[in-house]
Amino acid sequence: MLFTSITLNSICLLFPSANTYFFMVQAQGIMLRDNVRTIGQMIRLYTNKNSTLNGTDYPDGTNSSEYLAQPTTYLPENFTYAQNLPCPERLPSMKGLMEVNMTEVPMEVIEMKFSKFFGVEFGGQWKPKDCRPRWKVAILIPFRNRHEHLPILFQHLIPMLQRQRLHFGFYVIEQSGSQPFNRAMLFNVGFMEAMKDLDWDCLIFHDVDHIPENDRNYYGCGQMPRHFAAKLDKYMYILPYSEFFGGVSGLTVDQFWKINGFPNAFWGWGGEDDDLWNRVQYADLNVTRPEGEIGKYKSIPHHHRGEVQFLGRYKLLRYSKERQHLDGLNNLHYSPHISLSSLYKNISVDLYPELAPITEY
Ligand code: UDP
Ligand code: MN
Repeated sequence: MLFTSITLNSICLLFPSANTYFFMVQAQGIMLRDNVRTIGQMIRLYTNKNSTLNGTDYPDGTNSSEYLAQPTTYLPENFTYAQNLPCPERLPSMKGLMEVNMTEVPMEVIEMKFSKFFGVEFGGQWKPKDCRPRWKVAILIPFRNRHEHLPILFQHLIPMLQRQRLHFGFYVIEQSGSQPFNRAMLFNVGFMEAMKDLDWDCLIFHDVDHIPENDRNYYGCGQMPRHFAAKLDKYMYILPYSEFFGGVSGLTVDQFWKINGFPNAFWGWGGEDDDLWNRVQYADLNVTRPEGEIGKYKSIPHHHRGEVQFLGRYKLLRYSKERQHLDGLNNLHYSPHISLSSLYKNISVDLYPELAPITEY
């Protein structure tokens, strides 16, 4: 941990201003206290015969991860920010469980609210002013004909991301044409387009109908890809299987290039998230998840309006490894129509299989 390994003397040398020094000392004191608490919890855990420890931070919904030592270092209300320093990850504004309201609301009302009173710029970007955002996060939302979901998502996500003091921008990638829905290819398109705007460093792949319930679910990236939507109300808050990687996931730009993005070959519902999981494993990466209650989501109820299941998914999944470097960011073609809205950039794109040719494997 950065703060605990730096001595006070070296802090003075590295950060001469009194303000900065105060910031570091404050943070260091809190981290130290937390570490002591965590060690105490670990000892209790190891000496308690009835508890189990799976050695990871992967809650599988049935194990005892809730009892794992969870660092509780959220900074105090009077924490002083410094414009030239990175925003901390565990902010006092992040309170935990949030109210979720699924009532339909007109987009215009939400647009007005967030552009007028919450400072979101036209086109959907925002960044904090009192510290340096730790991550520049592009939120990519695959979309077709779910207009009532978008304002509900924004209503919950924008305040949460602002409390997390992240620089963020929203991209709605809308599939036109009559082909089956291709969630994964839309993400690839969204990624290529977002990178033309700004040097984003973190990508969040976000279903439009997933509403986070806990504002401590920090939408920054990490050393490893992250599965944010670990516990869904529609699955009784249990991870359906340990390789589940659907709903909301996040990778750094480097990680996403490394795995060659999503596959383009999954047309219709299902399988593309499992293929992404396989790609991550074959690239020697792991997936982390938020612990306990932090990974809770509510899903907006919806019907599958004439969507088709992708029956070819099982065959493709058997060849995830072979296809990984043939199908993805490197064989993607498309012609987007781009327009700006108050709260997002809309990328509308017609997709069909010929746009992502794949050689035999
Ligand atoms: N989606 C969409 N329109 C569709 C199908 C899917 O916008 O016709 C997007 C939307 O973001 C949705 C995500 O793709 O949240 C995943 O699809 P869906 O919700 O149908 O999957 P399920 O919840 O059944 O797993
Ligand atoms: Mn859904």
